[in-house]
Amino acid sequence: MDVKKILADVKAKNPGQDLFLQAVTEVLETIQDYVKENPKYDDHKIVERMVEPDRIYQFKVEWMNDKGEIQINRGYRVQFNNAIGPYKGGLRFAPNVTLDTLKFLGFEQTFKNSLTTLPMGGGKGGSDFDPKGKSDNEIMHFCQAFMSELFKYIGPDRDVPAGDIGVGGREIGFLYGMYKKLASENTGVLTGKGAGWGGSILRPEATGFGAVYFVEDMLKKHGMDIKGKTVTVSGFGNVAWGAAKKATELGAKVICISGPDGYILDEAGMNDAKIDYMLELRASNNNVVKPFATKFKGAKFVAGKKPWEVKSDIAMSCAIQNELNGDDAKMLIKNGTTLVCEVSNMGCTADAVHELQKAKVIFAPGKAANAGGVGVSGLEMSQNAEHLHWTAAEVDERLHAMMKSIHENCVKYGTEKDGYINYVKGANVAGFIKVADSMIELGVC
Ligand code: GLU
Repeated sequence: MDVKKILADVKAKNPGQDLFLQAVTEVLETIQDYVKENPKYDDHKIVERMVEPDRIYQFKVEWMNDKGEIQINRGYRVQFNNAIGPYKGGLRFAPNVTLDTLKFLGFEQTFKNSLTTLPMGGGKGGSDFDPKGKSDNEIMHFCQAFMSELFKYIGPDRDVPAGDIGVGGREIGFLYGMYKKLASENTGVLTGKGAGWGGSILRPEATGFGAVYFVEDMLKKHGMDIKGKTVTVSGFGNVAWGAAKKATELGAKVICISGPDGYILDEAGMNDAKIDYMLELRASNNNVVKPFATKFKGAKFVAGKKPWEVKSDIAMSCAIQNELNGDDAKMLIKNGTTLVCEVSNMGCTADAVHELQKAKVIFAPGKAANAGGVGVSGLEMSQNAEHLHWTAAEVDERLHAMMKSIHENCVKYGTEKDGYINYVKGANVAGFIKVADSMIELGVC
């Protein structure tokens, strides 16, 4: 496999799509040795076929705001690879969403979903719609308009969307309500549904919980325990909330959360009231974290800065892609951070990953650490298919098992000669094998 040539082709074919190129570069660089050792992949041109999405839908979304003004947004669904199961992946609503964003996310999703052990292909969708400052009514009208087009391309055994940034339980409700009406069926075509209408218990918590289980496994592997560790978390949305909740429950002290406006430093650590307040902040549609410091005495708001400057044992990026760069990584290394867990998809720049690995910091890539979210989405699909509802204990046990299996695979394929576990390599190789072998067995089609 000629990595340089494949990357040059990807760059030429996808001009200006830097995020997509970044995601592809990381995967190709880490799987190349494995591919060279197993010539069947080159014989079947697997890598070249994997970097090309199966298909992309782009559509116009017209809707009316509360003032009666017509609004126009762009909607997308990228169906990346369905070798191992129906396309599966979230929807992101944010003003900076482009086709590039959704192609990088769809590509990552293909590997992540393969790691979960469940039969799910990779897809991603979304819109440049900005939920900030919108009323609930406007969000409902947008979601309905978006689904009136998307419903043509999805189905419970075809493509199963879910949430991502800007799409939580409320949006899934509005989207599912419209799907059900248009398709004249009540099947589990979206995941992240409410527990009363087909959703799985623990789905809202799953990404953050799974990431903390993964951190626990990494620490254990290195002879350490999460109890008593300080944790900085970026973001304050669903993923950050789940991570803060589980880390606190397991005896760690979460001292930071953040938003686009800056970060909160709370040396006393999170408790139930503070964790619940994160949900209120998100529901306000304002996308700021500053009010946290007004509400809780002792919490300090630091404007315009990222939490990576705060000294802690563990750093967890739970906000957005490329939120932790090379300089941030150097700061974390200088501060003696033991473990960095990328929970957001591609939360670290390539530079940051390089710095952290060079310094032998224990580092988890997002596609391994955050796979619990889509993993429990897969469990929601199973429950919908059998028209049953599992208990919290059952779902949690399966989530635990999934994260454990992902960790074991990372160790199996990522342990280097000097004993350092390259979790990025391990996750990419393990995710690749299942999809690649399936593609060979399925033939050229
Ligand atoms: N958006 C989440 C992710 O990045 C969840 C996707 C899903 O549940 O389908 O994995």
